[in-house]
Amino acid sequence: MVMKAISAPKIFDGEQYHLDAALVWKNESIYRVMPISQLPEDIDCQHFPDSIIAPGFIDIQVNGGGDVMFNSEISPTSIETICQAHRKFGTAYLLPTLISSTPQNIAKALTTAEQAVLDRIPGILGVHIEGPWLNVAKKGAHDETLFYSPSLADLEAFPWPKYAKVLVTAATENMSLDALQCLQRKGVVVSCGHSNAKSEELTADKLANVDGFTHLFNAMSPFEGREPGVVGTALNTNEAWCSIITDGIHVHPQSVLLAHRIKPQGKLLIVTDAMATVGSKTNRFELDGQIIEVIDNKLVNSAGSLAGAHIGMDESVANVIAWGIDEAEALKMASTYPAKAMHVSDLGKLQAGYRAAATILNSDYRSQAVLVDGQLY
Ligand SMILES: [Zn+2]
Repeated sequence: MVMKAISAPKIFDGEQYHLDAALVWKNESIYRVMPISQLPEDIDCQHFPDSIIAPGFIDIQVNGGGDVMFNSEISPTSIETICQAHRKFGTAYLLPTLISSTPQNIAKALTTAEQAVLDRIPGILGVHIEGPWLNVAKKGAHDETLFYSPSLADLEAFPWPKYAKVLVTAATENMSLDALQCLQRKGVVVSCGHSNAKSEELTADKLANVDGFTHLFNAMSPFEGREPGVVGTALNTNEAWCSIITDGIHVHPQSVLLAHRIKPQGKLLIVTDAMATVGSKTNRFELDGQIIEVIDNKLVNSAGSLAGAHIGMDESVANVIAWGIDEAEALKMASTYPAKAMHVSDLGKLQAGYRAAATILNSDYRSQAVLVDGQLY
């Protein structure tokens, strides 16, 4: 077996730092992290000066990239394009995300993601179905005419994958307890989002079937003194994780820091919610017949609603560090925590036996290279 390595002045393995160290892997698995001085001479090693090697970033909410929207083209080719576009910004693995669509397209997204995982398209982890089981009052850029409350029969009819990880974002007030339990039985990770629930609607039995909350603060009922809303419940439910968009536009930096102080460690994770414009030459695209474009660095639809983000993972991490979150914690928010949220036990750390996946960043936290399943890009 041929061993390969990359080295840097600093490696963060998901738990601790190693200085002047090399990450060594065999085929697709990590062999170990070791001092550069002890690296056997016959190992082919690429050195990254002034860089840090971190566990490969995992983005669980990516609507598009490289000029492609997953909604417009549900195919292995579009998944490949999206993964490739986001690798430039440090993302090793992602969940292509289907914004509210028809049941036929949801079924197609599920089978396409399963096939992509079986075909080992580099960077695919599964699929995120965001809607259409959402609340009209918090529709964001979604097409409300597609929204409905699924029956058990509706849910049973979908081809839930076996190998691809599945995340579903639903407004839990529009889901019966039976429906939430059905998703849990299918192995789906359930996240509450685009929800206008009052805290009394987020009952203990429903919360027991909710794993997380999607893009905290955005498209959810706000926190107020007399009504904690979805935001208050998300912050106050220790077991549930919250994803958060850290472009500085969707959520104020102070609100990100406040959420970070409140949530238990490991329960706040970074997503980009990126669209087709990331890693692309154009600054506009179409979603359900409406034009979305970048105006003043914001992606907006014709009504002026925010419609996803124009940012990559590396910049999202750089932002939270600039706002005051410790570097190791920021790196975990982009890798270790999302791996845990999606129950992926062999990603999120650079330790023996884990998948050989890493993100290499320069001193400004810009991606230099990405390692995916033992392949350096
Ligand atoms: Zn959303």
